[in-house]
Amino acid sequence: MREILHVQGGQCGNQIGSKFWEVVCDEHGIDPTGRYVGSSDLQLERVNVYYNEASCGRFVPRAVLMDLEPGTMDSVRTGPYGQIFRPDNFVFGQSGAGNNWAKGHYTEGAELIDSVLDVVRKEAENCDCLQGFQVCHSLGGGTGSGMGTLLISKIREEYPDRMMLTFSVFPSPKVSDTVVEPYNATLSVHQLVENADECMVLDNEALYDICFRTLKLTTPSFGDLNHLISATMSGVTCCLRFPGQLNSDLRKLATSRGSQQYRALTVPELTQQMWDSKNMMCAADPRHGRYLTASAMFRGKMSTKEVDEQMINVQNKNSSYFVEWIPNNVKSSVCDIPPRGLAMASTFIGNSTSIQEMFRRVSEQFTAMFRRKAFLHWYTGEGMDEMEFTEAESNMNDLVSEYQQYQDATADEEGEYDDEEEEEGQYAE
Ligand code: GDP
Repeated sequence: MREILHVQGGQCGNQIGSKFWEVVCDEHGIDPTGRYVGSSDLQLERVNVYYNEASCGRFVPRAVLMDLEPGTMDSVRTGPYGQIFRPDNFVFGQSGAGNNWAKGHYTEGAELIDSVLDVVRKEAENCDCLQGFQVCHSLGGGTGSGMGTLLISKIREEYPDRMMLTFSVFPSPKVSDTVVEPYNATLSVHQLVENADECMVLDNEALYDICFRTLKLTTPSFGDLNHLISATMSGVTCCLRFPGQLNSDLRKLATSRGSQQYRALTVPELTQQMWDSKNMMCAADPRHGRYLTASAMFRGKMSTKEVDEQMINVQNKNSSYFVEWIPNNVKSSVCDIPPRGLAMASTFIGNSTSIQEMFRRVSEQFTAMFRRKAFLHWYTGEGMDEMEFTEAESNMNDLVSEYQQYQDATADEEGEYDDEEEEEGQYAE
């Protein structure tokens, strides 16, 4: 078994994490008490990837929940699937992080981190062959962001050869009015670049726009945003949870990384929609960049031949939007089991160089404040050095330049990147 250990932290992390488990339990036929009530062997075949099986036959999520205040976790506990989690895996403090990354990363969070690591270790020791970790958090606050990235770095230290996948929610002024969010996000990106293998970027700006412009919700709530997120998380992890060949573990999934999307109908319609910039969950227009890699997951009963044809068709018609120095850089897979309530669906993950637009947005907001040293005392008051801000800022700029460099690169310069992808190419059929 190739187990995945899930961690959710902070308000946003716990909200989206809990929604994820609601959807996944439903898809695998597991009721809120952990009992199997499903109807297909396919639901159980790989259930151990995300669940432990207790001696009484109940399924318990391999999940650790952490927060620096009790409120959100209390509401998870009393929520629809609250009883399914292992009670010992709720780790929380009382202090709060006050939207301050420094409190999460260096002071309050640092005090609680060992208790979290104890639970993580215990879960890891119970695994037969742990493939890696997934962390749900926001980057704009203090706990998910500061303490979340502290945990990620500690896990990396202790399990350097395991995969680290994150579902990271980027802040947007359209959704939140806390001014220091660009600070917290930039400090987090600095950490994620170092310590995560794959980051699924969920950008509140894009999620808000989808709710407002496409779904016509005049005042989108977090619940609306999170509905999009949990559908995405279900789609992204589908191949890990159900039998199949492609992208069936975290390492294979890592060939594609970046932004995601959602929506529904026929294979051609699904294919058309998933390449459409207005469905992207990251506020960046892929037509302003090029895809390094991408993967598409189709769910439901459909013809794989049609899927392959449609996907090839898009690539042929839009070849300039794909870097030519990574051959076969688009993968598709089909999973028989559609999400609840739909006949078919698809989820798209792309690593597009256009994501620099989102990093630029946050970076500009960061710089506007940092130039005047606005609100810095909140952070230096927790013992942080201004230097760490300077480094995080330049690290983000480097990330933008790196994407720009890939966007401009041609086959000759980057030829050495070809090998691995060609090997993977054999899975394309
Ligand atoms: P923490 O508890 O200290 O980690 O702080 P939060 O998770 O509340 O972080 C604040 C950031 O997360 C802001 O950018 C919020 O817009 C965002 N946020 C908070 N809750 C949610 C949620 O349920 N869904 C989404 N999509 N974003 C959230």
